[in-house]
Amino acid sequence: MKKLIAPLFAFAVIALMAACNQPKNTVAAEPDALASNIDSTVKPQDDFFMYANGRWFKNHPIPASEKQNGLWQMIQDTINAQILNLCETSAKLTNAEPGSAKQKIGDFYFTATDSISLNKKGISDLKADLDNIDNIKDIKGLITEAAYIHTVSGAPLFNFEVGQDDRISSKMAVRFEQGGLSLPNRSFYFDMDGRAQDVREKFVRHICNMFKLMGYDNDKAAKAAFNLMKLETEIARSSRKREDTRDPIKNYNKMSFRQLNTIAPNIDWQLFLTGVGMNTVDSVIVCQPEVITAVSGYLKSFPLEDWKNYLKYHYIRSLASYVDDKTYMETFDFYGKVLIGVKEPKPRWKRAVEETDNSLGELIGQVYVTDYLPKGTKEKLQQIGNDIRTVYGERIKNLDWMSPVTKEKAISKLNHMMMKVGYPDKWKDLSALKVDRQSYVKNVMSANRWAFNYQLNKYGKPVDRTEWDMEPQTYNAYYNPANNEIVVPGCNIIIPGYERKFADDALLYAVIGATFGHEMTHGFDDQGSQYDEQGNLNNWWTAEDNAKFHAKTKMIVEQFNNYVVVDSLHINGSMTQGENIADLGGTMFAYEAFKKTKQFTENQIIAGLNPNQRFFLGYAYAWMINTRPEALANQVRSNEHSPAPYRVIGPVTDMPEFFTTFNVKPGDKMWRPDSLRVRIW
Ligand SMILES: [Zn+2]
Repeated sequence: MKKLIAPLFAFAVIALMAACNQPKNTVAAEPDALASNIDSTVKPQDDFFMYANGRWFKNHPIPASEKQNGLWQMIQDTINAQILNLCETSAKLTNAEPGSAKQKIGDFYFTATDSISLNKKGISDLKADLDNIDNIKDIKGLITEAAYIHTVSGAPLFNFEVGQDDRISSKMAVRFEQGGLSLPNRSFYFDMDGRAQDVREKFVRHICNMFKLMGYDNDKAAKAAFNLMKLETEIARSSRKREDTRDPIKNYNKMSFRQLNTIAPNIDWQLFLTGVGMNTVDSVIVCQPEVITAVSGYLKSFPLEDWKNYLKYHYIRSLASYVDDKTYMETFDFYGKVLIGVKEPKPRWKRAVEETDNSLGELIGQVYVTDYLPKGTKEKLQQIGNDIRTVYGERIKNLDWMSPVTKEKAISKLNHMMMKVGYPDKWKDLSALKVDRQSYVKNVMSANRWAFNYQLNKYGKPVDRTEWDMEPQTYNAYYNPANNEIVVPGCNIIIPGYERKFADDALLYAVIGATFGHEMTHGFDDQGSQYDEQGNLNNWWTAEDNAKFHAKTKMIVEQFNNYVVVDSLHINGSMTQGENIADLGGTMFAYEAFKKTKQFTENQIIAGLNPNQRFFLGYAYAWMINTRPEALANQVRSNEHSPAPYRVIGPVTDMPEFFTTFNVKPGDKMWRPDSLRVRIW
């Protein structure tokens, strides 16, 4: 549901923010970012994305330690500098009050940057847990250890969570979902293109090296790696394809606890629940029951030894970034270099800053709001959000394909949608989380366990709909269907290049307005549209309107299926449809809202660009991201967001206003005939 790309395993947790003090006037003393990013050697009719952003890409090659470069990195750099400042000043304190935010942030950062200690320790802090896995005698023992790993890091066997019940969103439920793989998803185990085969070959080599680091000799490590790949390939074979996990109704299989024991009898479920810290439960939701059944079967059909190695690898993989350089580098070489094409690790301070934010973001957020978030951010975001909601409502009223009765329900859902912007009114209480200067990896495990317990403790209690799942310094946003809410953190106010002057309305709407529109549209995409205004999975459509909606979503699936990203890899139109629908809605509403501004109606020219040009260039700027081919391939296989160029080209070529603005004609590469243009909302 999120606006951007999910972080990859332990690496590169994306979190962004920056200052955006916006005094009055549009005096363009500095060069205008939109005008200066244009690559005039590219015709907008041929490749609008490169036309809009090409010059910036030429002048800013991707740093060796990054998988991409662009607007997000600019914002991330600003945020990192701010968090670094907080981390460093906190780490220098010798008398911070025990249990205070500064003590926790300072100690955490201290252990993360204490390379001498990290390298001296190696993986010794993990030894006791690895020994426990070695001492497993039977399947029951495996389940106990697997449950433990779930609480501190990693998710072996399957995914487990306590979350809102899709059909009764006021209640929390226990949910089991397919998972248990070390590569991002099923397709990595079976795709036959050269890139995928290369990834698999290097993956096995990497696992082998990890076992050697855990003390295995060459033969034993090679055998363990081979068997682990065999085991995970079987789990992958039983798993649903990513696109086949999109239907919330098919994922909703509520069953009694007794029934769970029947469909997966080799797993002692009570033992698992006790292991993670839960008492008995009456019922559970199993998203893909056949996969859980299969995993239960493998527990008997694969030797115990293979499973022990599987647990060891899952455990160490998820914590490898927080121990010595040798272990970190081995994991980086595969998950960083091979999988996403990064040439070298990020500098230690940057990794430390990002992990501190990942683990203690709630504490950092409180400082960020006070020290760095521009005054008036909340109000400005609220205003843009309201404008977008108004436009959306008007558009629903005017839809030519929807009946009045469904329109009424859609509008009611839109009006009920909660809009949380800026930062939360109350912060989570992290007082139970202990952090000290003894061990980085143990600090990370403590933070993980705190977050795990926090979620677990919600079980059996009323749902708190005021809660936030993202921090104000996180440059991202989300829609949560179970709450029918959108959440837009404060740092979304930032538009790089326009810190010291007002970003004009074209930019404000193209960048920030489109984010609001994107998240709101998630309430009405292929998944969100199945939830009602209260957040319950509950059909509110007439059959006829639903059929018309699906004919339209099918068109967008086909549109994106046709985009070839790298080598011969096409976008998976089905897997990415929710995000593509959201992008299309977001762009159209943002444009519609912009049309109501003075800048548009008075046809104001800024930096030589008319309002329409500034809007579309502004939207391309929001996605100005240049990505390495390896990371693109990885994204196409595993991420429900289309790569940046297609998040621009896709929506704009569905809008006639784009063709007029840039004089795109039949025969041009950017041209899309009217019959193929998608318009859903
Ligand atoms: Zn999204």
